[in-house]
Amino acid sequence: MKLGIDLGATNIKSGVVDDTFQVLEKKIVPTNAHLGKEAVIQNLIEVCRQWIVQAEITSVGIGIPGRININEGILLSATNLPLKNIPLAKQLNETLKVPVYIGNDANCAIYGEIYAGEGKNANNLLMVTVGTGIGGGICINRQIYRGENETAGEFGHMIIKHRGLRCRCGKYGCWEQYASVSALICQTGKMAKTHPDSLLTKQITKNNGNIDGKTPFTAAKQGCPFGEKLISNYSEYLAIGINNLITIFRPDKIVLAGEIFYQGEYLLSCIQKNIIDPQILFISQIHDRTGIIGAAMLGASSEITSCKSRLQEEWS
Ligand SMILES: [Zn+2]
Repeated sequence: MKLGIDLGATNIKSGVVDDTFQVLEKKIVPTNAHLGKEAVIQNLIEVCRQWIVQAEITSVGIGIPGRININEGILLSATNLPLKNIPLAKQLNETLKVPVYIGNDANCAIYGEIYAGEGKNANNLLMVTVGTGIGGGICINRQIYRGENETAGEFGHMIIKHRGLRCRCGKYGCWEQYASVSALICQTGKMAKTHPDSLLTKQITKNNGNIDGKTPFTAAKQGCPFGEKLISNYSEYLAIGINNLITIFRPDKIVLAGEIFYQGEYLLSCIQKNIIDPQILFISQIHDRTGIIGAAMLGASSEITSCKSRLQEEWS
């Protein structure tokens, strides 16, 4: 069995994946990124050791949000993690005595979809993950398009508005400034402020002033026109970026992931109304585990050639 790990800034999610790409069991532990590089690596080692004792692990794959040289297994830099220029695959391989592979987490997620989700029967697939920001993955002819050091597919930073809102990347008008969950929360706050007597505002007050991605949906379902307006606008913003992606890639399918899509058919149909090719849009059914499956399958990737052959030499 293969061990898949999704290393995030907050949690380390891990699970064992069998030959049919099922996650048999899952564990989540805190990353403790604030304790520094050594603590995070020790945490990773501990997670792996626990699984190795428990199951027959043939390889370990780790998805990390960052720039990675996958062939050499070197983590060049990571988002919100104190890890930089570390030969992580080699280091863990020497400690654990099991082949270890590392890859970008978004690329692992689309890899999981290819093996076990919406991508099973698609040659050309895109994945759009909507959360605090917007991430993505590109699969062409069933191969991941990785870009330089795994950094392709940063869909959230394509500019959709000239001189638009300032983005954390330093540019103006990036898609995620309009269509991420953070953007929806911001839009909801503004709408509530301008309509203090609305059901939307009452909903927020009831929730002690807290707004999350669900707030406008709850208001809309209660018949609030301002909630409906928010979702209709937000869907249009999502559709602008998706239409751009369709124009460039003409994929067989686009799979949408992120907790916002727990809103299901309601949100999907709102987006589809504005899409040039609505039937190619799907919501991920394995969103909670696609990163683990994809990470576990890193060792099976035909692309990670030099790292694999080196490890095979070492292990033969
Ligand atoms: Zn940006």
